[in-house]
Amino acid sequence: MSKLSDPVISIHGLGPKARDNLNGIGIYNLEHLLFHLPFRYQNKTHFTKLNEAHVGNEILVQLTIDDVQVTPLRTRQMVCHLSDENGWRLLLRFFHFNQWQREQLTREDIIQCFGEVKIGKDGLEMHHPEYRLISKGQSTLLEKTLSPIYPLTGGIHQAQMKKWVGMAMEALQNSPLVDNFKGISHSMPSLKQALAILHHPKEGENLTEIAEFRHTAQQRLIIEELCVQQLSLLRLKEERKHKIANVFAIKECLFRQLHQNLGFTLTNAQQRCIADINTDLSSNHPMLRLLQGDVGSGKTIVAVFACLQAVENGFQTAIMAPTEILAHQHFQGFSDYLNPLRIEVAFLTGSQNTTTRKEQLEKIQSGQAQVVIGTHALFQESVEFKKLGLVVIDEQHKFGVHQRLSLAQKAYNTPHQLVMTATPIPRSLTMSAYADLDSSIIDELPPGRTLVQTVALNNERKDEIIGKIEQVCKAGNQVYWVCTLIDETEVLRAESATNTHAYLQENLPNLSVVLIHGRMNKDEKTEIMQQFEQGEINVLVATTVIEVGVNVPNASLMVIENSERLGLAQLHQLRGRVGRGNDKSICILMYQAPLSSNAKQRLGILRETNDGFKIAEKDLQLRGPGEILGTQQTGVADMKIANVVRDGYLIEKARFYCEQFMQEDETKQQALIARWITDDKSQYANT
Ligand code: ADP
Ligand code: MG
Repeated sequence: MSKLSDPVISIHGLGPKARDNLNGIGIYNLEHLLFHLPFRYQNKTHFTKLNEAHVGNEILVQLTIDDVQVTPLRTRQMVCHLSDENGWRLLLRFFHFNQWQREQLTREDIIQCFGEVKIGKDGLEMHHPEYRLISKGQSTLLEKTLSPIYPLTGGIHQAQMKKWVGMAMEALQNSPLVDNFKGISHSMPSLKQALAILHHPKEGENLTEIAEFRHTAQQRLIIEELCVQQLSLLRLKEERKHKIANVFAIKECLFRQLHQNLGFTLTNAQQRCIADINTDLSSNHPMLRLLQGDVGSGKTIVAVFACLQAVENGFQTAIMAPTEILAHQHFQGFSDYLNPLRIEVAFLTGSQNTTTRKEQLEKIQSGQAQVVIGTHALFQESVEFKKLGLVVIDEQHKFGVHQRLSLAQKAYNTPHQLVMTATPIPRSLTMSAYADLDSSIIDELPPGRTLVQTVALNNERKDEIIGKIEQVCKAGNQVYWVCTLIDETEVLRAESATNTHAYLQENLPNLSVVLIHGRMNKDEKTEIMQQFEQGEINVLVATTVIEVGVNVPNASLMVIENSERLGLAQLHQLRGRVGRGNDKSICILMYQAPLSSNAKQRLGILRETNDGFKIAEKDLQLRGPGEILGTQQTGVADMKIANVVRDGYLIEKARFYCEQFMQEDETKQQALIARWITDDKSQYANT
């Protein structure tokens, strides 16, 4: 008798090739097969009448064959005319068929067909249905339960997968499945019941609920999976607590000096975040904190205050930015704040010449530079720190986890880490994908920010924008014009920007219109950005290099070409480049008609709101977690049954159970994790 812990190869008729295919999708043993759930169901539990058929639905019908024809050679296909007793008709089409099939289907036969109803020029059709000739003695297609459809892999067929899962269900009869959530709720089925319902839902089951993943059997499993996913991250967090940290004594001296030098008062939200960070820095385990805030909410200054504590305690800080432009801007910004306090800031990027680089490396190694700002270049091997104690990562989504960690390895003990996001992250993702991080949110913008008015404009109305640009520049403000050409090479991108630049120059002869793009060298780019900051350039034509971070408060008009091609978060980021000063700002989203419904929604949302938190939620709904988190977080993007977007309402409940499990013993936790998270192949090495 099979047990749930048996490897899949023990199934009779399942060979090494199928085993490898199953292993490839995380199925190693029978228990994993149990948790391989159908992604949809076919309903063959009753016949549908043709006059009640809905186009697009899959239905089972029983009809009579009136006629069978093979159409002329060029578009050769077999069509089969069917009707019911009331004269309602259905046409079957076969684009591939063989002689045997042709001969088998004959007039007056009673036929059962299962397939999707389509609409053709003469009425209802089905293409390549599954069919049985009842009058020729074939068995019925009618079933007692819904038919599960499983995700497949490699050369595995649906029928095989169905059979194997069925065998795992049988093994369940004599092999206990630990049900850890017995007390979950009286309204929910047990684990065993839930699996039975989902693999073989009975006809009376609420199919609409199942289709929407709101059936209690699904909720039961979703809660368990979300719980396990959080559990694996909270365990990491717990582990980190045992690492040796650098305990900072929080001091006020530099803090006060910087405070006095600031030209503004910190918002309450900023003060709260600084307090959160100081608490972490002074505790005896390493900080790993996510600092979230909308574009322009002032995350940078919060990081500067964290740096001060490192300096006060004799530690270095490394600040890593995703692009050269941003790194450079941070270098200037941090230097402006820190130099007056006699704190030395070094700068390191990949494109520096050898002499400069050597100079910077020495400053870093000797400890003369207390704060180091740079790009990816910071975690290269040749970079050695004297005493790195704090790591700040800006725009975290641009970096992989391993890059963050390799910088952390250069540190003295385990460094404190502050991770900043470009825009807010939806709460459901913070609780799931980032459960191992503590989180602080700047939920308030500095006073005096003006809402950016956002309008959408057809590309054809480019000419009207010229007038607007003239008006804005006459008032002394500046303009960004962003060119986008997605999925094309950098060369093409630069080319399209070059064309736009020429067009604008021609039409705005009295203004200084300058082009900046990713193929220019770093010095050129830096110089252009400086000129723009100093107001020497009126209109900056850019590819999306300006996407993150740049801060020029005098810019008050943002024009985005082909905005329909960009994602919500990216558009919101770009828009955040204006509205930073006291002047009324406008963002013009140009688009190429016709818009897809998804693009229409995106542009609509941007016009409706400036609130990055709302936009982040919508973005998650429209794109799904996989797209938003990228490949770094496959754990959350690719769960077996749970989906953080659809099932966001269950995340709190899952957290509640997760916290209970954190108190349980190690083996129980591990068993639960092994059931759901199967991509750690090492534990099944011999199966
Ligand atoms: P982001 O959160 O997008 O990284 P920044 O840190 O670049 O935002 O800050 C945007 C601008 O707001 C900067 O010019 C900064 O000096 C300014 N700023 C930050 N905090 C405040 C505040 N409390 N009051 C006024 N201006 C502020
Ligand atoms: Mg920033």
